[in-house]
Amino acid sequence: MKTTTLLRERHKLKNQEEYQVKYNYLRFVTPAESEVAETERREILNRLSTRIQPGYKGSKPDITDISPGCRICGEGTWSCLFINGVCNSRCFYCPAPQHDVHEPETNTLLFPEPDDYIDYLKIFKFRGMSISGGEPLLTFEKSLSFIRRARKEIGDELYIWLYTNGKLFDREKAKKLADAGVNEVRFDIGATDYNTDKVQQAIGIIPNVTVEIPAVPEEFELMKQKMRELKAMGVKYLNLHQLRLTPYNFNKLIDHDYTFIHGEKVTVLESELTALRLLEFSIEGNLGLPVNYCSFVYKNRYQKSAARRRHALKMLKPGESITESGFIRRLSFLPEVSSGIEKILFFDEETGDFLFIPENFSQICKIPGQIKITYFVAQLAPQPSAISEFKSVALNETRDIGIERTLAQPEIILNQTEATQFFNYLNGDQIFHQPEESKWINLLRFENIEKGLQSYY
Ligand code: SF4
Repeated sequence: MKTTTLLRERHKLKNQEEYQVKYNYLRFVTPAESEVAETERREILNRLSTRIQPGYKGSKPDITDISPGCRICGEGTWSCLFINGVCNSRCFYCPAPQHDVHEPETNTLLFPEPDDYIDYLKIFKFRGMSISGGEPLLTFEKSLSFIRRARKEIGDELYIWLYTNGKLFDREKAKKLADAGVNEVRFDIGATDYNTDKVQQAIGIIPNVTVEIPAVPEEFELMKQKMRELKAMGVKYLNLHQLRLTPYNFNKLIDHDYTFIHGEKVTVLESELTALRLLEFSIEGNLGLPVNYCSFVYKNRYQKSAARRRHALKMLKPGESITESGFIRRLSFLPEVSSGIEKILFFDEETGDFLFIPENFSQICKIPGQIKITYFVAQLAPQPSAISEFKSVALNETRDIGIERTLAQPEIILNQTEATQFFNYLNGDQIFHQPEESKWINLLRFENIEKGLQSYY
């Protein structure tokens, strides 16, 4: 799906709102630069086309060989626990301040002790768990206690990994992590000036050793050397992220001569191109080190959709369904004449609506009337609010968590022709092109996860 003009304008406005007056200090890609960069990207992907397997609707260029943890992330069943909020590095690209000491936290929920967290993993059927920081080795015993409990309580089907900058890593810790049940350790070697000594210490002890760093344009040549070194020492995966601007790293990132791109968030153009060039370097040179370029749009689309879907499952009502992007879809039929339709529709006494599921549209489209589509979003909430529906989900006898269900946007009414077009689209009709009309844009953004890497603008 190509980003439409209207959506681009919305993103630009959101980007301006996020950075206010600082926005004017950012050098955004020009149309001419965008054309050159898009051509380079297309050419790299074309050259590699027979040797790569794009995944997640093209938001990852190659998923031929990615870590089991990354597959679990793509499935939407990964929980990342931020164990402490502090770090002993000051990477220029770090998206967060890393001096905000806190209890273990995920998705706005605090889990001071492992037991409630393990119940949370079970209730929401997570298949993967990771420990992140700040830096998890600063609170090593705490990190270990969560890992041990998770492995003991959930068993081998849970894939567990840990992120580290490696500064405090040694073979003794590697053994303790392996004994506790860690499947993978991911090193950010950007934090240690690309020194790989600590990575080496994990090899042979931790089953899967990964290097996970942002693709830093200035380090392109250095990374080419490092990739050979990493492969030779036994590193299994190289995960490259796209540099992303945040309010926390703003002052550091603008000191670099980067070109910024608008989008769901502001990102760095040269970072994506660097990641793709490194992917090509690895494949063309037969390095045997798989490069997983984890674009910002992949993370933003798939990880957010997964969280919405997880919570939506707890708030779904009869006659409703969940869209690919994780919103609750409620379809109501507004018939011109109501006699006889109750046989194929579900009557919701609370709202007086006739509800139906997409599969029933073939019957409904024969009856004169309109379709009303309403989308809701379900998310975690600390307490009930006056405007949303709220539900407590019990983790165990002593701990509940709250989920609220909120209207995602005002309802949309479709006439019969529009409704036919919409349901054909849901059934995979390729002829439907998303028109530049706000009605369709508003509707489809709640349905599908957008395709492809981001447009440069
Ligand atoms: S090691 Fe990770 S958490 Fe620490 S400063 Fe660097 S990017 Fe941030």
